[in-house]
This record gives sequence, structure tokens and C-alpha cells, in this order.
Amino acid sequence: MSENQSSWIDLRSDTVTRPSPAMRAAMHAAELGDDVYGDDPSVNRLQDYAADLFGYEAALFAPSGTQSNLLALLSHCGRGDEYIAGQEAHTYKYEGGGAAVLGSIQPQPLQNQADGTIALEDIAAAIKPDDFHFARSRLLALENTIGGKVLSLEYTGAATSLAHERGLATHLDGARICNAIVKLGISPREAVRGFDSVSVCLSKGLGAPVGSVLCGDKALIAQATRWRKMLGGGMRQAGGLAAAAQYALGHQMARLAEDHDNAERLAHGLRQIDALSVQTPQTNIIYADLPAAACAGLDSLLRQHGIIARVTPHMRMVTHLDISAADIDKVLAVFKTFFNNWKTESNIS
Ligand SMILES: *Cc1c(COP(=O)(O)O)cnc(C)c1O
Repeated sequence: MSENQSSWIDLRSDTVTRPSPAMRAAMHAAELGDDVYGDDPSVNRLQDYAADLFGYEAALFAPSGTQSNLLALLSHCGRGDEYIAGQEAHTYKYEGGGAAVLGSIQPQPLQNQADGTIALEDIAAAIKPDDFHFARSRLLALENTIGGKVLSLEYTGAATSLAHERGLATHLDGARICNAIVKLGISPREAVRGFDSVSVCLSKGLGAPVGSVLCGDKALIAQATRWRKMLGGGMRQAGGLAAAAQYALGHQMARLAEDHDNAERLAHGLRQIDALSVQTPQTNIIYADLPAAACAGLDSLLRQHGIIARVTPHMRMVTHLDISAADIDKVLAVFKTFFNNWKTESNIS
């Protein structure tokens, strides 16, 4: 096994991709300026490109998806307002409670259904009347894809209409919206229809090293720019990162279909193993249930073969730019070897 981490097959997340030579060339060639003064041409180009691609007036480059979502929450909501989100939503569960801690914004989490949606009745019931006992319901925040599942246009259309009818704004955590776009075969603009803002991760399946963009109208992006400065996200000569991000959006979106195919290939192979229960992946995220007693041994055998994964009884594996179909076959071979032997051993004991 090489010590060079880049030769590992890393199934932990699609955040682990490294810039390709062509992306590095784009970074190297980027024109730079001070983005806090609005002077970085490469950042400006990325923001204009993203705004146009997703059909918004303006966009803002942020160092992470967590910050980009937080900028949106802080810009839509004020102190004593609340946002409605899924129990499983990244904005609620995986961002350190940032909206509450830094914005005095109360989350109103609601159960996610098995398909990733929040039932419309639940949303309607959670929107509070104008009464000083209650926080002011201000925003509906959805996530697409969520746990690798794609929300349909029909659903996002109905949910955003409901929110607007009741006077709420809408935000989409579109960290992996490009996976949904490719899966549904729709345009980026269609995918975000009905959302007043969207945050898109460039550093996940799209393969940029760093960054997200927040898109919205000019007033929202002006607010978000103030918050970004306050949160320490105002970067100076950030054009190299923006150039990587622009390369990712421009050249590496359509190829997400390969990640989806590889996820399907992995799921198909894993289904041949009796000890596993495998969910059918919709995009690039696969969940498999395995016996808890198998985890440590499987983890160790995978590592011996240069494969890194988070091996848990409810195991998530993510395909991406740096994983080929041949890599998937290697992973499957190790799983099969392990479970053949494991079965034999457990039968003996
Ligand atoms: C990864 C992710 C984020 C946050 O992105 P970071 O760049 O890691 O901060 C937000 N939402 C979802 C759904 C994500 O998967």
C-alpha cells in the first residue's frame, strides 16, 4: 500500500476529490484582485456565472457550504424569527446550531419522510400565527439532494408555493443540487424554481477544492455580503479558488452521471452478499446495513487494499470524481472476500 493518500479509494465523501491537472491549470491562470474590495475578476466572474446559471440576480462566493447556508439564514431571518427545516437537514443537524448561536434564529425541525420530503401538512401546521407567544415563522429551508435522495420538482414546487402563500421565504440547501439536476435531466434554473435563495457546494461532487456559492436577489446578496465579512469569510485574492469552482461548474457537472452509475454498480454488487441489506441509490450515495460484528474486520481488510470508508452498521458510501468503475470492482472484490470468509468463520463458531 502506497503512503500516498491520493492513490486510496476513498468512499467517505465526495468532498475528498482533488483538483485535476486541468483545474489546476485554471487556478494557476486565474487573474487576481482583492475580493473584499470587490476587485477580484475571477471571483466576480464566478459569481456572475453562477447567478446566471441558476437564474438569480446575484451570487456570493463563500468558503464553505456551512457558511453559505448560514449567510442565507442570517439574511432571511432576524432575531426571534424561525426557520422550518427537516430533522435530517444539514442546516439543522450538522452545522453546529449556527443559526441559533449566531443569529438568534429558532429552528423548527420537522420529521423527514423516507423519501426525504417534509409532509406538506406538517409544514402547514408548523407555520405559526402572528401571536407574540410564538417565534415569527419566516423561512422554509429544504435540502436537495438529501441523504442522496432527489426531491421531485412537483414536491419542491408545492412546498415553496405553500411557504410563499403563508408569507414565508424559501431557501434551498443545494449542496448536491447538481446531482439532482443530472439525475432528473433538468436545467439548473428548473431545479431551483420557487426558492428565493440557493446554496450550492462546489467542493462536493463537482470537485473544486473549496467553496460554495449563495444565489439570491440583489438585496439578499448585499445582506449576505455583510454577514460574510462579519463571519470572517471575506477572502482577499480568492480568484484561484473561484477559478477552480468555475471550472467545476462549467466542466464537471454532466459527469456526475458517472458517479450515479458507479453508485448503482456498487449497490448491485453488494446486493449479491447475503449479509448486507442495500438501499437502491438515487444519486451518488449508497447506504448498506451490515452486521455490527463485521465492521472492525471489514474496515481492516478494506484498508489493507487501499480503500477508506466509514464502516458502521448503517454504512454510507459516496462515489465521486476520483472513483472509477474499476475502483468499484476492487471494492466489491474485497467485500466479497471478506463476507465469504466471515460467513465460514461464523458458521464454525
Ligand atoms: C456538505 C454539506 C453542506 C456544508 O458544506 P461544507 O462545505 O462542508 O461546510 C451543507 N449542506 C449539505 C446538504 C451538505 O451535504
